[in-house]
Amino acid sequence: MSLKANSVTRKYGNQKALDDVSFELKEGEIVALLGPNGAGKSTMMKIITCYLPQHEGDVWVCGHNVISAPLKVRELVGYLPENNPLYLDMYVREYLDFVAGLHKLGSKSKTRIEEMIHQTGLEPEQHKKIGALSKGYKQRVGIAQALIHDPRVLILDEPTTGLDPNQLVEIRQLIRNVGKEKTVLLSTHIMQEVEAVCDRVIIINHGKIVADASTQEIQLLNQTSRIISVEFEGKSNFQLLKQISGIVEIQEEGNGKLKLFTQSEIDLRSEIFHFAVAQKWVILSMGYEDQSIEQVFRQLTFEV
Ligand code: ADP
Repeated sequence: MSLKANSVTRKYGNQKALDDVSFELKEGEIVALLGPNGAGKSTMMKIITCYLPQHEGDVWVCGHNVISAPLKVRELVGYLPENNPLYLDMYVREYLDFVAGLHKLGSKSKTRIEEMIHQTGLEPEQHKKIGALSKGYKQRVGIAQALIHDPRVLILDEPTTGLDPNQLVEIRQLIRNVGKEKTVLLSTHIMQEVEAVCDRVIIINHGKIVADASTQEIQLLNQTSRIISVEFEGKSNFQLLKQISGIVEIQEEGNGKLKLFTQSEIDLRSEIFHFAVAQKWVILSMGYEDQSIEQVFRQLTFEV
């Protein structure tokens, strides 16, 4: 097991930022930690990386406890904190050399710096000051420093926030490549990122885990409220479909195309078919829409 959190609780004053959080990450998994602002994601990451102690529970990285063996854990973990704090006045190579020194890489430093510059695609900007780099290249420097000591587990706190669409694609590709060799836990707000990059999703809300499943499984959660797309031939008063129990809203998209928002334990398609036949409506197509992670996320973390 690369990472194990067991009943972790962390308070700030009276507020529980993490409340009895448990999960495990297998070697080589890329897992998204998803949750609204203030859910406790950064707090969890700071505990895993030994920046903050938990009040209750235990965390192990590759079998080493974060409280009793923090130096060993720091060797095994690479961390890109939120907002990627960097020394803007340092040159890229100078900074990586500085970080390699912190990890006491000694004679390995030079080779690791070259490898990191190559792996993170920093070659074109390697001779610049960090302050002169675009946000995308700054993120690459942040990822390079997190990887320089060849950790087995990588913790990335919102690694793609603020990037433009091209930079997003490039950094995601980089994370996917890194994930072939390492266990990665990343936090994000971007649902497409989860679908594009992660094998598994842990959703956290108010310091508690509300879902932990594979990316495919999570899309199948909350099967009771799903959307059915139907296309009818011609025009009619399709709002009559509301007479079917379980259809809660109908969105008409023109040309006989509808989205039916359902709230039902049972499959409503056959009822819709019989209803349509009784009305003499011709159905051209009908099917459930794939539930997006975004829908599941909103259902699990929505505040009334
Ligand atoms: P997330 O990363 O999911 O946005 P955080 O872990 O940063 O959430 O925060 C969880 C909760 O703990 C929030 O309500 C936040 O305001 C609170 N919190 C985080 N850090 C501190 C701190 N140093 N002092 C007091 N409260 C904090």
